[in-house]
Amino acid sequence: MPHTILTPKAVKKLLITFLAPLPIVAFICYVSNSSSLKQHLQTISQSYVHQIEEIVDELRDENYQALYDATTCRQIQKDLLFEAFLREMLIVEEGRVTCSSKRSEDEIFQIKHKFSESKLNTGEYLFDISYEDGPVRSLLIIDQDKNNLHRSAISIVDQSYIDVRLGLKDDDRIAQSVMTVSGNTYPSNTHLKPSQFLTMEQSKHLNIQVTIEPSNKLINELYTNTLLVTIPISLFLSIFWHLFSYWYQTRGSLAEKIKKALINNEFFLVYQPLVDSSTSKIKGVEALIRWSHPRSGFIGPDVFIPVAEQHGLINNITDFVFERTLVDWKTHTTNNLHISINVPPSYLSQNSCLEKLTLLASRYKEQGLKLGIEITERQLLDKSDRAILTDIKKLGIDVSIDDFGTGYTSLSVLEDTEFDYLKIDRCFINTIGIKSINSPVLNSIINLANNMNVLMVAEGVETKEQADYLKDHGVQLLQGYFFYKPMSFEEIATLLENN
Ligand code: C2E
Ligand code: CA
Ligand code: CA
Repeated sequence: MPHTILTPKAVKKLLITFLAPLPIVAFICYVSNSSSLKQHLQTISQSYVHQIEEIVDELRDENYQALYDATTCRQIQKDLLFEAFLREMLIVEEGRVTCSSKRSEDEIFQIKHKFSESKLNTGEYLFDISYEDGPVRSLLIIDQDKNNLHRSAISIVDQSYIDVRLGLKDDDRIAQSVMTVSGNTYPSNTHLKPSQFLTMEQSKHLNIQVTIEPSNKLINELYTNTLLVTIPISLFLSIFWHLFSYWYQTRGSLAEKIKKALINNEFFLVYQPLVDSSTSKIKGVEALIRWSHPRSGFIGPDVFIPVAEQHGLINNITDFVFERTLVDWKTHTTNNLHISINVPPSYLSQNSCLEKLTLLASRYKEQGLKLGIEITERQLLDKSDRAILTDIKKLGIDVSIDDFGTGYTSLSVLEDTEFDYLKIDRCFINTIGIKSINSPVLNSIINLANNMNVLMVAEGVETKEQADYLKDHGVQLLQGYFFYKPMSFEEIATLLENN
């Protein structure tokens, strides 16, 4: 039975793997989110500057009209009656206001001294202008008359218009914004909070700058977004890491478990009969390893054989199978029963291989057994492995090529390899009855084996239809659930006695 994995230690580890990437992920998300916030603020400030540029351009046109087209002050007043951006337009000559778009002649008298000392050069300026409700900081667009440098037109921008254009009203994305013209600011008493998000934009052709400070709402959105992205990413990373380390550890420890299992005798063998296709009589058996782990339960060879191969334990397992087979069959007398053992190519590469097999062949013979080895075709057999097969055959050991058709062996390699049986892989047997009429690849393998004069074993025969087809096509030996499943030694011994 699998034991619980949610021990306090495991929970602690789970928590650590979740919390560990959190600061780094949060930092990366924060940097990326704040860079996109900065871009966003840049776009906002650009749009503000653009809007102010539009107002200035329009008022500059009005200045030109007043300077060059209008013939009387009255006409200026009439022309500008509905100009929305404008609080007032003044014509100043020699420092004296001579015309206002809004004021009567008496009223003009009250302000005429205001510009007497100022230089009235063409440009944009911020001035505190007195009105009846007190001094008002205003944006002035001034144009000098090119024909008379002592004459200028001054457009005073309506304050509420600037407020709207600077987003001071209605834009909840910004807390404050400031327009700077030649060192003066509008509004005059703004203190911007120093922060990395203060964004400044300079007009390309005017002497005007806009600086904006984002609202708390926008900054909070940044933190919320960072949090919303950080948590799932960290969770994903920690789950990934946890699964990976679990996989890595269990894999690593599986090799350790295999070593212990060999010492503690946890492996045992089952045997699957191979039957003669024409008589259905048992001709031999294949030894298949099984593992009953005291805590993890049954572990299939498909799981642990590849791990044993990777960790250099497969030769120990093969030695175990050779020895255990002899132990199992000690008490049972057979008449030259054929016993097949799965042998990996690495076993053939050992220096002591021939010596070991010579001894094993004679011990098997003494017990009335005919030893055979199955070499899987899935792994590459190098030249020396193939050469040794000739010597092995000379010892009277039958050689089968296992899983034929699924691996690396090219036909030319087969030609200079000595073997007795070709075991046709289950995947080709499966095609019988499924592929209509005949199974072309299977038929080619059968023809090939006939031409090479070797015997055939069909693996994984599960139906009568398959058994009949293989028999009809001359395949000599059959193995599969249709005849017998792998069984314990006691079961096979009883079966053979009754056979
Ligand atoms: P394999 O050598 O091709 O062994 C045949 C496998 O097919 C066995 O699975 C057997 O139980 C299964 N089989 C037999 N007849 C049928 C059938 O009609 N239908 C189906 N679906 N399956 C059938 P098992 O015992 O799980 O072994 C799997 C593989 O593990 C073996 O494939 C072999 O590559 C490896 N293996 C098993 N025992 C040993 C061993 O002692 N040493 C080595 N080196 N490898 C072994
Ligand atoms: Ca086999
Ligand atoms: Ca096989």
